[in-house]
Amino acid sequence: MKRRNILKGAALLPLLSINGLARENNNSQPKSLQEQTFNEDFKKVKIRKVKAIVTAPNGIELILVKVETDQPGLYGVGCATFRQRAWAVKSAIDDYLDDFCRGKDVNNIEDIWQTAYVSSYWRNGPVLNNALSGLDQALWDIKGKIANMPVYQLLGGKCRFAVDTYTHASGKTPEEALDSVQKYMDEGFRHIRIQLGGYGATHLTEKPDYKQHGFGMPDDNTMNEFAYMDGVVKMFDLVRKKAGEEIELLHDIHERLQPMDAINLIKKLEQYRPFFIEDPFSPENIGWFELLRQQTSVPLAMGELYNNPHEWLVPMSKRLFDYIRIHISQIGGITPAMKVARLGEWFNVRTAWHGPGDVSPVGHAANAHIDLAVWNFGIQEAPRINDRLREVFPGSPTVEDGFMFVNENPGLGVDINEEAAARYPLPEYNYNWTQVRKNDGTAIRP
Ligand code: MG
Repeated sequence: MKRRNILKGAALLPLLSINGLARENNNSQPKSLQEQTFNEDFKKVKIRKVKAIVTAPNGIELILVKVETDQPGLYGVGCATFRQRAWAVKSAIDDYLDDFCRGKDVNNIEDIWQTAYVSSYWRNGPVLNNALSGLDQALWDIKGKIANMPVYQLLGGKCRFAVDTYTHASGKTPEEALDSVQKYMDEGFRHIRIQLGGYGATHLTEKPDYKQHGFGMPDDNTMNEFAYMDGVVKMFDLVRKKAGEEIELLHDIHERLQPMDAINLIKKLEQYRPFFIEDPFSPENIGWFELLRQQTSVPLAMGELYNNPHEWLVPMSKRLFDYIRIHISQIGGITPAMKVARLGEWFNVRTAWHGPGDVSPVGHAANAHIDLAVWNFGIQEAPRINDRLREVFPGSPTVEDGFMFVNENPGLGVDINEEAAARYPLPEYNYNWTQVRKNDGTAIRP
């Protein structure tokens, strides 16, 4: 049976037998349903150790949590990836959560989440939330293994056969972006994000005035906001005309415009029928959404930088955007993400979880298990998981014809090969990506 493969080795035989997958001996009476599905031995499985694993198979820092239990061979893996502060997350896991969790009952995910959440007293920051996410996802993985079910079944079962995704097309010019769109259309994607460069902060000026006056650092990026806004409209015009009406087009402003400039840009894009426009404002500028909503009916996606419930609770309840873009490990894992999804259901705010390269395959699987199970799923940012990642993370999700699939193994279905992971140490962190300035040197907030 394929589903048994997740639990390997002779040491697991007792565990398998008490899980209803085998009988203790041929003479024993058939067990009651209750005994078969949730045996006495699983009523209390204790956490033996919580440890961080760091790896960078693609040169991108990934942080995982492995929760080991007192049952031989029974463990869980969760994503705690916050690449910009990887070592700080590792310390939060190894130096604090491990000690906090030892001896606790793995069955009580909600209680462990609630108590770990307040264990630092101060909370809701990205470092501690990611550590908490790694723990939380690993506990869901373990619960799935005990129940002998994939996590999406524990969350309510499937609302759809697979997870529809969007991918990223980009180019330095509108023509290059169009070529990129056509390539992904040929691969079967029906939703494509279009950018002039990766992050909408293209039109980088090589010789800005601030550098000529010795301000900032030599590697800092510079954004010409007017060139950016002009280029995005031209790109939408070309791609919509040439790629046709059937393809869904998305764009990420990446928070880098002044609020009124973002509003004006979105109004200009309305005629091209975007699927959504993402992150028009930085989290500090949430107050501008009401004005934006009065000006345009373009669907909006927001929230990949959100960490604190106060950032999404009121905007979602006021229907100020259509898609919630939260990065699941940044809010603390599956447990809080399910609450966000359920909140959205009542206001018809749909999910569009953040799914870039700095989410581990375990994290992508967590996204997908939720995507399968919640009614108000919107769209999922597609993972790109190459062979190197698949070697480190056996069981990673797959993408075919624009749909993401998870396997049917119990739990999240993704393991970690620690030997392979150790071959890819973390690179030195590159601060450059976040450092973007205006021509006069003013720092721009993503
Ligand atoms: Mg984004």
